[in-house]
Amino acid sequence: MRYISTRGQAPALDFENVTLAGLASDGGLYVPETWPSLSKDEIAALRGLSYVDTAVAVMRPFVAGVLDDAELRALCQAAYGRFSHAAVTPLVQLDGRHWLLELFHGPTLAFKDVALQLLGLLFERFLSHRDTHLTVVGATSGDTGSAAIDALAGRAKVDIFMLHPLGRVSEVQRRQMTTVLAPNVHNIAIEGSFDDAQAMVKAMFADAAFAGRFTLSAVNSINWARLMAQIVYYFYAAVRLGAPDRPVAFSVPTGNFGDVFAGYVAERMGLPIARLIVATNVNDILHRALSAGDYSVGSVTPTAAPSMDIQVSSNFERLLFDLHGRDGAALAAAMKGFESSKTLAIGDAMRAEAALRFLSARVDQDEMALAMRWAFESGEVIDPHTAIGLAAARNADIAPDVPVVTLATAHPAKFVDAVERATGQRPPLPARVSGLFEREERYATLPATLEAVQGFIAERATPTA
Ligand SMILES: *Cc1c(COP(=O)(O)O)cnc(C)c1O
Repeated sequence: MRYISTRGQAPALDFENVTLAGLASDGGLYVPETWPSLSKDEIAALRGLSYVDTAVAVMRPFVAGVLDDAELRALCQAAYGRFSHAAVTPLVQLDGRHWLLELFHGPTLAFKDVALQLLGLLFERFLSHRDTHLTVVGATSGDTGSAAIDALAGRAKVDIFMLHPLGRVSEVQRRQMTTVLAPNVHNIAIEGSFDDAQAMVKAMFADAAFAGRFTLSAVNSINWARLMAQIVYYFYAAVRLGAPDRPVAFSVPTGNFGDVFAGYVAERMGLPIARLIVATNVNDILHRALSAGDYSVGSVTPTAAPSMDIQVSSNFERLLFDLHGRDGAALAAAMKGFESSKTLAIGDAMRAEAALRFLSARVDQDEMALAMRWAFESGEVIDPHTAIGLAAARNADIAPDVPVVTLATAHPAKFVDAVERATGQRPPLPARVSGLFEREERYATLPATLEAVQGFIAERATPTA
């Protein structure tokens, strides 16, 4: 499998190089040259397989030529062996039609572990036979940071610099990052928003002199390998609910459009997905884009679901690439316009094409709390992100015989205060993260300027030989 850039100017890469590169050198994102497909029989054959065996069958075409089945299986066993549930991503029934897909049984309690535990192992494997030291630079609105740090702490030949917006992540989220004291982990609190932090990360990749001095890599969901790992659980859940003979809908609490894009890939591969519901909080650029063609940046409103407090959704470019008929030059021009004007109009034809696969919804604070209470009355305590997905799922216009699976993206204990406000319950932290509040924290606080952040990194990172 070869990977091409959405902006058409960067060299095509194999899976190994696309994993290490993250962002493409032309500012675009890497996507597979073609979407592989699984036949109906191949999908039916996934029934009853373990999570790891499902992962091997689903990811095989994407790693072809770089990893064989045995190697891929060994990596998946190591990554998913760290999950605390035997099913890795169990399905939980709420009522006759609504289900939760619990993606938070990994070491840092959010769905990002599913991808990042594998990515950490892929980095280690690909670096082991190279004379390269990787400098991972990332921005996090909370969960990516802790999951990436857990996956990379102490690994050889990698340093990780993680930027988070000061005071805008929950205390559990912050401590999960800042109490990891491994010398290759560097936490930076930025005096600004997540979008400021993300813009600085993008600028560092675009700065040829800086990017050339260090071998920069990304662990944000712009990294293809992360998206790939997330395709697996759509298949895993759908076959348990009757696919390929019966379509299933998914509701996805969405920020950077990574998780729901993985669902889109699953659909392109042949999984019968009735609709993907893009659930946003009041930071609703994606809902405006999909429902009205208005992809324009507003200001970020902090909410109880901080991992979705995003205005610019990086991975949306991957969908726009397909909507532009995979014409890299046309998309590069459109994205250039967007970067300067902060607005992009999505024409009716493209919007109609997107509507074949996507629905969208904007969920406010009250609707979120209501969904939390409804789940609680059905016996499940859910976190604010999951609640946004569930609120959108319950309102979506989907045929009544289609099961609707809401992705449960974080453990409720990660967001205790919001959960307590809505339900009166304070979910306890699972044993695997106990002791978090007693541990020493370490992080630097920097102004939201590229100069300050680049200076900090330059003093600590290992230059390219
Ligand atoms: C990251 C995250 C999201 C948003 O996922 P995207 O892939 O960025 O759309 C939703 N919920 C939680 C808990 C998250 O950590």
